Amino acid sequence: MSEAKIGRRDWMKLGGLGGAAALLSGCSKPTAGEAKGEVRGIVFMVSDGMSTGVLTMAENFSHIVRKKGTRWWELINDPASVRGLMENSSANSYVTDSSAASSAWGGGVKINNGAVNIRPDGSKSTPILRHLKKLGRRTGLVTTATITHATPAGFAAVTANRDDEHIIAPQYLGVVDLLMGGGMNFFSPQKRVDSRDALTIFTKAGYELIEDRDTLLKSKSDKVLGLFSGSHLPFEVDRLNDPELIKKIPTLAEMSEGALKNLLGHPEKFLLQIEGGRIDHGAHSNDIAGLIWDQLAFDDALAKVLEMTAGRDDILVIVTSDHGNANPGLNGTGKNYDETNKSFSKIAKMTCSYEKLFDDWGRSSENTPENLAAMIKEKLGILLKPKEAAELHSSLTAEVVSEWSEQHRNLPGLLGQMMGNHTGIGWTGISHTSDPTMISAIGPQAERFSGIVPNHEVHRHFLELLG
Ligand SMILES: [Zn+2]
Repeated sequence: MSEAKIGRRDWMKLGGLGGAAALLSGCSKPTAGEAKGEVRGIVFMVSDGMSTGVLTMAENFSHIVRKKGTRWWELINDPASVRGLMENSSANSYVTDSSAASSAWGGGVKINNGAVNIRPDGSKSTPILRHLKKLGRRTGLVTTATITHATPAGFAAVTANRDDEHIIAPQYLGVVDLLMGGGMNFFSPQKRVDSRDALTIFTKAGYELIEDRDTLLKSKSDKVLGLFSGSHLPFEVDRLNDPELIKKIPTLAEMSEGALKNLLGHPEKFLLQIEGGRIDHGAHSNDIAGLIWDQLAFDDALAKVLEMTAGRDDILVIVTSDHGNANPGLNGTGKNYDETNKSFSKIAKMTCSYEKLFDDWGRSSENTPENLAAMIKEKLGILLKPKEAAELHSSLTAEVVSEWSEQHRNLPGLLGQMMGNHTGIGWTGISHTSDPTMISAIGPQAERFSGIVPNHEVHRHFLELLG
């Protein structure tokens, strides 16, 4: 049954999530044994915290700012690709955090939120990249967050607390060949809590330390420690609007290209995990410009990976998310929703993230509430209504946010709602959500990722395909 031929009655018969998943996957789910083809390498791409609605908004936004659609949208429509839903609960909650989700992929077991590959009974899982390294496979982690952040960590590290990034950093030594992202603070002796010089330890072990875009683009090293920022890399909207950052910081697509080129250039099997790490941060802040530009940067990375693997029959590309976050969506505005497109288009005029906005405002000698409203006009192109400005003013001065939803009873939540009055974007809160996330897969054995895929089963597929 093709999707185009499904009538309303069929939809009603199918009903519920299981029915929707059957449609997504094309009705019958082949077992792992039926999936076809030898896999030499897997590229596992994660848009962290990407709720399903982000895909549609990114597609529309891409047409506005780039006059073309997104690569993921195109992939979903490609008959050669497989579609599914990632089930992503953790051991202790319907709502996972990134460390439990990544540990499920990396360690094969659902664990409690907050831990990295430590099971609820205290025992440890062996992360997938440690397994693969013992077998002589090559490995890579690429992210726009700190390289020691929860999602990359779940593939290679074990620690009781995901925030112990200084403990995670040395665990990558000899396990991960290619490391690219932010997080210098967890390697540098000047910044580490124990003053240990992790940089020298890595370089002595043969890693090339790379700290800027130009060096990365020229590098031919087989072992790379690419650290392009102390903490996370800047939001894409901030990078795009700062010539200094454009010069220094590689894009996610450039890091992905460098890593994949290296892995394809060797005969060994490989696993490369690529994360758009800050889509999640944009969602936590109810910051639509922060979120959507990072989603486009992630899409560029996907486009590059698909371009580099096109025509090959031995590379499996999987693209998904670890969990939803704040479930942003475009609400119809105006009579007959005729204001909707105009409202949404306002996002294209926003030139900074909330993170940078609040940072700049906090450092300004005149950080008055009035000045924040003026900065919102200048940087986000939105003139707050007098009532909104007054509410923002009172929430900044009296620390009272008049809002019944506890989720929104904070500055980002309030500002997100105010911006929504102008852009049409609504948010469920500032937290992760339980929604399943999209999976697209293409290449040999892609059929394994159709239907509903429990996140911890991904680990078994990795092992069966690369072990
Ligand atoms: Zn998050």
